[in-house]
Order: sequence, then C-alpha cells, then structure tokens
Amino acid sequence: MPLMSNALLYRLITSGEPLMSKSAFKRALARLDQAAEHVEIPEETFIRLHHPRAVLSVAVPVRRDDGSLEIFTGYRVHHSDLLGPCKGGLRYHPDVDLEEVKALAFWMTCKCAVMDLPYGGAKGGVTVDPRKLSMMEIERLSRGLIRQIADFIGPEVDIPAPDVYTNERIMGWMMDEYSQVVRRRTPAVITGKPVALGGSLGRSTATGRGGWVCLRELGKEYDWQPEKTRIAIQGFGNAGQAIARLLHEDGFRVVAVSDSKGAIFNDDGLDIPSVIEHKNRHSELEAVYCDGSVCETHDAEQLSNEELLELGVDVLVPAAMDDVITADNASKIKARVIIELANGPTTAEADDILTDNDVLVIPDILANAGGVTVSYFEWVQNRRGEQWSESEVHERLDKRMAAQFGKVMALADEHKVSARLAAYMLALKRLGAAAEALGTAHEFNGGSGG
Ligand code: NAD
Repeated sequence: MPLMSNALLYRLITSGEPLMSKSAFKRALARLDQAAEHVEIPEETFIRLHHPRAVLSVAVPVRRDDGSLEIFTGYRVHHSDLLGPCKGGLRYHPDVDLEEVKALAFWMTCKCAVMDLPYGGAKGGVTVDPRKLSMMEIERLSRGLIRQIADFIGPEVDIPAPDVYTNERIMGWMMDEYSQVVRRRTPAVITGKPVALGGSLGRSTATGRGGWVCLRELGKEYDWQPEKTRIAIQGFGNAGQAIARLLHEDGFRVVAVSDSKGAIFNDDGLDIPSVIEHKNRHSELEAVYCDGSVCETHDAEQLSNEELLELGVDVLVPAAMDDVITADNASKIKARVIIELANGPTTAEADDILTDNDVLVIPDILANAGGVTVSYFEWVQNRRGEQWSESEVHERLDKRMAAQFGKVMALADEHKVSARLAAYMLALKRLGAAAEALGTAHEFNGGSGG
C-alpha cells in the first residue's frame, strides 16, 4: 500500500509556507501535514483533506427595523463527508470570512474523527456584529440564512449547531424555518435547539463539561488538589461558564474570567455562581445577547484579556476566540496545562514555544468536543423520537470523552509527540481507514498505483 510517508510531497504541490500563511485554512492544514509524517495512511486521504468538498457563499437580505434593507454575507462549508454527514456550528461575528470558515470546517472533520462520531466536518457563519441588531432583526437574519442554505443542509447531509454569538433560540428559529421550507417537521436538521423544540438535556453545558472531563482525567497524572489549583478562563459564554461552574463545584480556585470587555481576578477564587448570575441577569434584560460584562462584578480586580492569559495559574482555559496565544505571548504563559475550549486559540508558532516550555496543551479538537458529542446524542434522539434524561446524557458524554482522551494521550506517549499531534494522528487514522475502505489508487491499479 502506498503510504503518506512524507508530507513534504504535498507541500511541494501546494504553494507557500503553510505555517506562516495568511490563510487560516492553510495554517490549520499545517497541523495535518505534521501528523501525516507520523501516521501510515494512503496518500490520497491526505490530499483529499486539503480540499473542502463544497463551499457555499450566500447574500442574506434583511429588512432592518427602520425599514431599510441590509445584505449580509453568509458561508457554509462542507470540509469532508468521509465519516458521515457534515456537522458543525454557525457563527455570527464581524470577523467571519471564508478562509476562517474553511479552517473551522476542517477542525470539525478532525474533531468528529477524534471522538469516533459518524460525522464529517462543516462550519458556517455570517459576517455580522449581532450586538448591533435587534432581536427581531436577528430572527429575520437567521431565517433568511436558512432559506438560502436549505438545499445545502439536511439531517443526512449537513447538520448545523450553535457557535460564537448564536444560541439555542437561534437554533430553534432555524429548525422552524427549515421545517417550513421542506414542509415537514425536521428537528434532526439542527442541534443545540431548546429542549422544548427537540433539544437534548445536557447540550447547553456539554462543551464545558467535556473540557472538565479532560481536566479530571489529567488528575490521574497531576493529582490536582482543587483548593490549591488556580484556574483562569478567557471567555465567559456558553463554554466558559459551563466549565467554570463545574470546576467551582469541585472546589477548584477559578481566579480569573473574562469576556470581550475585559477580565476580573481574585486570587482567593471568584464566586462563580454569582458572577454567572450577574452576567446573565443583563443577558435576560437584553433577551438574546449578553451585554452585561463580568467587569461590572465587585470584589475583584480588573485585568485586560492579555493579562489574564499571562497570569500565574496552574490551568489556563481559552474559551473565546481563535489565535489568542501567539508567538508574542506564548513564552509569558505560566500555566502548566492549557485546556483549549475555543477553536484554534493557539497558533502553530505558539505551540512550539509551549511545547519547549513543557506546557501541556489539551487541543481543541479533543478538549471542546463535548459539544459536538452531545449534538450527536441530540440528533440520535430526534431520529429515534426519544428524550434521554440529563444523567444519561452526562454519563454517555463522560464515558466517550474519557475513552477518546485516553486514546489520544496513549498515542502521545507511544510516539513521544504532543497531545495535539496525537489527536490529529488519531483523526487521520480513522479518516484513512474510511478512505481506504472506498478503495485507493493502489487497489484500482492492481497494486501499481501511487
Ligand atoms: P459564546 O458566544 O457563548 O461566548 C463567547 C464569549 O467570548 C463571550 O463571553 C464573549 O464576551 C467572549 N469574547 C468574545 N471576544 C473576546 C475576546 N476578544 N476576549 C475575551 N473574550 C471574548 O460562544 P461559545 O459558544 O462559548 O464559544 C466560545 C469558543 O468555544 C469558540 O471558539 C467556539 O468555536 C468554541 N466552541 C463552542 C462550542 C459550543 O458548543 N458552544 C463547541 C465547541 C467549541
């Protein structure tokens, strides 16, 4: 069997230096190139993964509350369907662009493969600052987007979910709009819905919970003493709040949290339930978006988001945006362990610096996979017409996270590579097995193909 023995081969046919590329997608692929040097997979698999299978760009007209018309650009990318229908979130953010969506879709392919889920990878987004829209404008945008991409998604084709600045309510509108377009109730087209509309219990906290399981599993090696273990969390939305609450309940000292407006710090540990309550009280007033900032909480010192990353803590949890740990600040990071709840928070250059400094990074494609895992449970429940209890969902999630975490760490140990590289290697092995089952040039050419 011809194997991908040297990823340099493919780098030769693609232009530029991937690690330094301006394209987020090319930078993301650089991780695949590194993993391919350690895994025996058909070269074809590797080449396939360098090309998203389909890319859709749409214009979404939205009638503003003042009567004017505004056109927003939306994207949906299917990166790969080798392992099953494509799966991935929809993000509303001013920085959304096609290259970023392609990178995010690629990470979804890898994440679903790492978690051994029967899904390929997708992602989508709209270039918009949703905080500048009213709730009704957000509903019109969300429904308009679904009308534009309805032919591109479906329960057996591509199943969206929430991501940055999209939430349960938006998923509910989207499911309703899709059902109207296809003229049949179709809950399984989207996950992360409100429970009343077919969502799964335990979905809203699943991403944070998955990261928490990783930290718990690491405890076997690190022997955490919760009251002495200091943790900083960047980003206090869905993912950040859920992990903060679980860690606080376990007695860990969550000393700093932040949102887009800044960070708060208290060396004795923050009272997480009251910080969450404070932040979300504002969110209720604003109905869909949280305008209340953690910075308004008392009994804490204010810091910048940059200062939070460099705090003298044991564990750092980036749970906001990508590219926040870079070559500029990686050497200043004092945490021993980083749990990447955000997608792509660490650049490749920063990764090398962290590895040299013996910082253990639990990579995004493993650490934040709790969300897609419970999304998968939601999809299964929708298709079976079932509703599982919250404890059943937690139990299934904990079991799957712990199992895949164990496989990644064992691979890292065996090959003496970083946990990130090991996670990509595990993903590549599973993707390679599927590609091989479809047949490779080697088989079609009776053994002589390349
Ligand atoms: P969210 O919209 O619920 O919360 C995002 C949080 O980040 C908010 O508190 C916001 O104020 C904060 N933020 C935004 N810009 C920031 C900045 N520059 N510095 C500090 N904080 C900033 O989003 P979420 O769903 O929690 O997603 C956060 C990250 O986790 C994203 O990278 C997302 O792709 C990833 N993720 C989320 C899920 C999920 O199920 N929600 C699953 C996997 C990965």
